[in-house]
Amino acid sequence: MAAVETTAAKPAVPFMLGLLTGGEDGCAPQLVTGRCQNCGAYSFPQREICAYCGPGPEVSRVTLSGEGVVYASTVVRVPSSVGIKSPYCYGYVDLVAAPLRVFALFGGECLPPPRPGTCVRLVTEPLCSDKAGQMLFSHRFVPVPTGGESA
Ligand SMILES: [Zn+2]
Repeated sequence: MAAVETTAAKPAVPFMLGLLTGGEDGCAPQLVTGRCQNCGAYSFPQREICAYCGPGPEVSRVTLSGEGVVYASTVVRVPSSVGIKSPYCYGYVDLVAAPLRVFALFGGECLPPPRPGTCVRLVTEPLCSDKAGQMLFSHRFVPVPTGGESA
């Protein structure tokens, strides 16, 4: 019997490689960051050269959990050049696990964008399709539900 071509959707692939680990089988995704072995500064995405020390010290790969607090946020009301539909929200998140401020999209139904001080967690969500129709996913931060807070 001949193999049957399926019409099932192709699995999504990351928009950019090397940013995340985990995220499958119910495991929470984690951010792949770099940490300078000289000054301890973190980087995301992971740098090969420390922004503070320059060439020389090793920058180690460190995975960090995706819990954080919104530092700043805004909404964009025009589509992005890579195909992200508008409106969408992005901003900066201060990670809980390390002194690192991460630039990222906010996911889910994030209108209005989460306010500074909002607790968020890392998820992966579809971002856009490439020219071949391949669905690409990306990391995003979504608000953590809190008890007793009205929407
Ligand atoms: Zn350094």
